[in-house]
Amino acid sequence: DSRKYTGIIEDCCCDYETVDNVNSAVLYPLLQDLVKTPFFRYFKVKLWCDCPFWPDDGMCKLRDCSVCECPENEFPEPFKKLSKRSLPSDDLKCQEGKPQATVDRTLDSKAFRGWIEVDNPWTNDDETDNSEMTYVNLQLNPERYTGYTGPSARRIWDAVYSENCPKYASGELCQEKKVLYKLISGLHASISIHIASDYLLDEKTNLWGRNLELMYDRVLRYPDRVRNLYFTFLFVLRAVTKATNYLEHAEYDTGNHDEDLKAQSLVRQLLYNPKLQAACPLPFDEAKLWQGQSGPELKEQIQKQFRNISVLMDCVGCEKCRLWGKLQVLGLGTALKILFTVEEKSPLDQPLQLQRNEVIALVNLLNRLSESINFVREVSPLVEKTMERL
Ligand code: FAD
Repeated sequence: DSRKYTGIIEDCCCDYETVDNVNSAVLYPLLQDLVKTPFFRYFKVKLWCDCPFWPDDGMCKLRDCSVCECPENEFPEPFKKLSKRSLPSDDLKCQEGKPQATVDRTLDSKAFRGWIEVDNPWTNDDETDNSEMTYVNLQLNPERYTGYTGPSARRIWDAVYSENCPKYASGELCQEKKVLYKLISGLHASISIHIASDYLLDEKTNLWGRNLELMYDRVLRYPDRVRNLYFTFLFVLRAVTKATNYLEHAEYDTGNHDEDLKAQSLVRQLLYNPKLQAACPLPFDEAKLWQGQSGPELKEQIQKQFRNISVLMDCVGCEKCRLWGKLQVLGLGTALKILFTVEEKSPLDQPLQLQRNEVIALVNLLNRLSESINFVREVSPLVEKTMERL
């Protein structure tokens, strides 16, 4: 057996083989269908960034540019040429030359009625503020290689890690902070895997495909990063199943009856999946965290740190990366909110309430992680053999 990751996933309740099997047979196909439905494919986001750090960066100036607002200097050459040739208007440059990549700003009035407006304390953006928000069709803006790299990208990751992982005199991190680190590292691994799985291989011929060397260099050669990816996947999966009551009764109305019924049915299949329940009934045990006397303060502190990570997403200099960064951080913030909302014990406790945008982010994040796990399962034996031979 060429499998490198075996046994129980750290802090979790299922093993790698089971997660691989249940993901590829059940979750992955289900989520692929779910994220294509109208309810889940439009994400509301404030694309204009209000980065409070690095004002000298000069990266956040193109307000109305559609989803790929990368600054010229970060943008791959073929994109520049393509957009100049096919899109004469200055306003429309940086869209990878695709008119369908534009944003539908009228969707809010047509769809999504029946959801409450409630803010997420784990994230910075106020999801109830509509004035600066716009809708993006996620299916037309896949997370992939954009050419965003160099010091701008590097300092965001550095800041994200130093924000959530302060070193203490003892050198040890407490359990809960390790969780936050693992979530970020798992997300980072997933982003790198998506870059590697959809990479611009040849600029001259505009050939896109897999870059397995990059996949090895950034993720597979570090077993911790792969482990953190599985951990993050199970953490988010647990949040989804814990919110079963809420998600089951939520309104998936977009005005497209057949598609909305399909979304509802797929959500139910996800929440009440006998194969998943048999294989991994409790993907993560959040009850073990935030206990003891310092619980509430610690939670507040971690909430603040996570909000700061969410602020950093406004500083991501490439707009498509910012879109997916914001979506996935909101998805993680939603998972944290679900897992650490106090259970209803007395009438005074707040029941869980989710905003529709949070649900969209949560499900799309789970899908991205599921794709990454699938890709690792598919290619890692192949990549490792090749790299070991070199
Ligand atoms: P980076 O990925 O930038 O990593 C920086 C450092 O972090 C590494 O040297 C290592 O020390 C550490 N590190 C790396 N991975 C992990 C991990 N999993 N766990 C712990 N530590 C780790 N680029 C795109 O092409 N498309 C995108 O959609 C995209 N989205 C992005 C979203 C965000 C929020 C950010 C901040 C960047 C995004 N980027 C995207 C840029 C991309 O993530 C890389 O920063 C870029 O490709 C340069 O990669 P690198 O090799 O310098 O390493």
